[in-house]
Amino acid sequence: MNGAYIPTIGLEIHCELKTASKIFCGCPNVFGAPPNTQCCPVCLGFPGTLPVLNRRAVEYTVRMGLAIGAEIPAFSKWDRKNYFYPDLPKAWQTSQYDLPLVKGGRVAFMTPDGEKTVRIERIHLEEDAGKLIHENGFTRVDYNRGGVPLMEIVTLPDLHGAAEAVAFLTELKSIIKYIGVSDVKMQEGSLRCDVNLSLSRPGEPLGTRTETKNLNSFSAAARAIEFEIGRQTEILAGGGSVLQETRRWDDAKGRGYALRSKEDAQDYRYFPEPDLPPVVLDRAEVEAWRRALPVLRYERAGRYTREFGLSGYDAGLLTGDRAVSDLFDGTVALGANPKKTANLIMGDVLRLGREEGGEDVAVGLSPAQLYGLLSLIEGGVIGLAAVQKDVLPRIWNTDIDPETFVKEAGLAQSGDADEIAAAVREIIAQNPRQADDYRAGNEKLLAFFVGRVMKATKGKCNPKTVNEVLTTELKKR
Ligand code: ZN
Ligand code: MN
Repeated sequence: MNGAYIPTIGLEIHCELKTASKIFCGCPNVFGAPPNTQCCPVCLGFPGTLPVLNRRAVEYTVRMGLAIGAEIPAFSKWDRKNYFYPDLPKAWQTSQYDLPLVKGGRVAFMTPDGEKTVRIERIHLEEDAGKLIHENGFTRVDYNRGGVPLMEIVTLPDLHGAAEAVAFLTELKSIIKYIGVSDVKMQEGSLRCDVNLSLSRPGEPLGTRTETKNLNSFSAAARAIEFEIGRQTEILAGGGSVLQETRRWDDAKGRGYALRSKEDAQDYRYFPEPDLPPVVLDRAEVEAWRRALPVLRYERAGRYTREFGLSGYDAGLLTGDRAVSDLFDGTVALGANPKKTANLIMGDVLRLGREEGGEDVAVGLSPAQLYGLLSLIEGGVIGLAAVQKDVLPRIWNTDIDPETFVKEAGLAQSGDADEIAAAVREIIAQNPRQADDYRAGNEKLLAFFVGRVMKATKGKCNPKTVNEVLTTELKKR
């Protein structure tokens, strides 16, 4: 034994695109409909039917390529990937073999050990298969998912551990969501990941790899990777050799199983799809898609730490959802203080947004409204606590101007010196002993008076002004 084994991991990520209809027919692309209600002769593979390509699916795949700085070849074509399985009514999957829509590209992301980059080999477009439902010893097939556009992202083997793989997947998911080509709902299976993994010693060629299929959560992917590293290490350490095979992961049992010896590309008998013309992209249109790309999460987070001095953690929170990051950017662009904006967002805006949107934070506030709230706090018109409790929930998902709302609801703190002075004098008159003690040097009693005045005025006075007036009035005698 000399030296530990290093795992080398490549991922294949399948992502369902958020188009209105399926890739080769007009059936709706929806999740959760009753089985076999979203199907037609085309997506059921009836003989004699012909596919018609969904332009939007091509656009979405190309936009993903542009977002990761990939090459977009002008010419791309379709191929049949033949395999016999009940979820595939035609017995071939219309996919892309040698000329995919997207070539190359890279994804940078942060890990605890610093920045890493994963090179992307290709992204191609294909149709999803139906779903097998195993129940009570029977298997039934739901073809609703058959023909849903599926973008397959293939990485080069640039990953070396479970945590790194999860960090990469998290970044990839964020890119997909920022450019809006998929909802990436893992629980609905719209992002699924295959893990190719092999072990080797430093300086030696890569060992035999296995492929674990269809991991449908990042945590399941992490557990499957850890398991496979352990399994292969045990085999190699015992002098055995790893078999090239396709494996299945049982997340409930926390272990993987061999499914079949891995098929090679030749087993699929790929050949060009005769029923679809090749894709010839219009350069000007591709350039328009490129120009329309949003600034992505990674770049925004970098700017927040560099320009605004936010911590990496805070920058991560603010950029997790594009809607939240857009709110932050928009508010700062109006002239708001970045740190104060960040604090208000990370507190109550995120809390409300998660209550409403769950995994995808909903943002029920415009930059102008958030800027208005911050100005009210800054100007001493209203305290942070009142904003959190009384204002934010009331203007959420409305276009109510916060200043108008605060005025009409009578929530404004009184900055009126006369009113405050009257309240202060009354409280001092009611507490002569405490006033004497304060004058004798017990300055801690100031807080006592502030509290009494705030209570008497129902918290509507600006505490800073109350403090100032109290200090002046207590000195008088
Ligand atoms: Zn159909
Ligand atoms: Mn595929």
